[in-house]
Amino acid sequence: MSEGTEGSVLVVNSGSSSIKFQLIHPDTGKSSASGLIERIGEPEGRIVYHHRTGLAERHVHIADHRAGLKMVSDIVAEVGRPLRDAGIVAVGHRIVHGGDVFFEPTLIDDAVVQSISDLSSLAPLHNPANVIGIEVAREELPDIPHVAVFDTAFFHTLPAEASTYAIDREVAKDHAIRRYGFHGTSHQYVSAQAAEFLGRDLSELNQIVLHLGNGASASAIRGGRAIDTSMGLTPLEGLVMGTRSGDIDPGVILHLHRSGGMGVDRIDDLLNRHSGLKGLSGVNDFRALLKLVGEGDGDAALAYDVYVHRLRKYIGAYLVELGGVDVITFTGGVGENNVDVRRDSLAGLGRLGIVVDDDRNRAGSRDARRISAAGSGVEVLVVPTNEELAIARAAAELIGD
Ligand code: ADP
Repeated sequence: MSEGTEGSVLVVNSGSSSIKFQLIHPDTGKSSASGLIERIGEPEGRIVYHHRTGLAERHVHIADHRAGLKMVSDIVAEVGRPLRDAGIVAVGHRIVHGGDVFFEPTLIDDAVVQSISDLSSLAPLHNPANVIGIEVAREELPDIPHVAVFDTAFFHTLPAEASTYAIDREVAKDHAIRRYGFHGTSHQYVSAQAAEFLGRDLSELNQIVLHLGNGASASAIRGGRAIDTSMGLTPLEGLVMGTRSGDIDPGVILHLHRSGGMGVDRIDDLLNRHSGLKGLSGVNDFRALLKLVGEGDGDAALAYDVYVHRLRKYIGAYLVELGGVDVITFTGGVGENNVDVRRDSLAGLGRLGIVVDDDRNRAGSRDARRISAAGSGVEVLVVPTNEELAIARAAAELIGD
């Protein structure tokens, strides 16, 4: 196992109360350690990680991110060698908001940390937590290059008409208000994988990628460049998600404030954590939702219909924006696993050249696969996303490894 970590990249995704990590080889994609440290700062934290023979789970108090990252060290040591001695070539940090500053994977120094921190007003829940992860990891691994990979970067190519909100230009400028997009690492990785699967050149394909997980987003990609995406200034815009509303009339917010007497924090909580599938049905997990639908629960059935309706709306919009599409790809926990969403979101589109084959759609597999029918003009694929591998590759490439 120890030699298995040589040449690997440690990928760190530091959230407000959790740290996800994976030790992954950028060339082979082989993962030698991975895990999740969550409920940091709560009385009882939870650590789940993969080791040689399976999954281990522990419940202990995790005081802060420093203690959390120390646990990452311990886990890596348990499955191989101590972190500092594991032959790691780089640490890749997933950073949520790169704002108007970062468009590429970036070697981290003090100035970069400061800039990421300065962007916190655009992502108050995420960037500060990302910065803590960087600081602690740099202390633990001071002699290894640290690379920041931004969730927004892939979407910096959005044309102005797609990235601009129709509000007062001065106000927008003063507050850096524009559409940034998120999940970029996944959309970029999956669109490249789709081209590879088809044996086609990325530059010749019009693609729609549907990343459907707890968070969900759609993108329109022409020749490998994103021309539109469903998330905006924040990851709240666009598709219906597990707990987020997605698109909503901004007037609803004004109404809740004026007539409902709700303050900004309450509305924030409502739209980010108590809306979407959860708000409509009581559950945010898609499997739980489908179970309720199967039991005849009317609220759950409506939640499912609203989810699919919004998805179809975006697919339609992107078909027109692209002027025709060559490939539509599903990814993320729901997109990779859920037969119903894939079937229903593309149902009845034969006249647009989009036909999903029932048997292919049903065939479970962990690999990239085609689910469109033989005669379908548009290829419909399922491609598992792998943001960790994409971050590891970006980090390795930047440091020239
Ligand atoms: P995140 O956005 O947190 O990375 P994921 O991409 O892991 O989320 O997706 C989580 C979602 O995927 C959950 O709603 C979960 O119910 C759903 N999901 C995972 N496996 C299945 C499955 N086999 N069938 C249906 N939904 C699934």
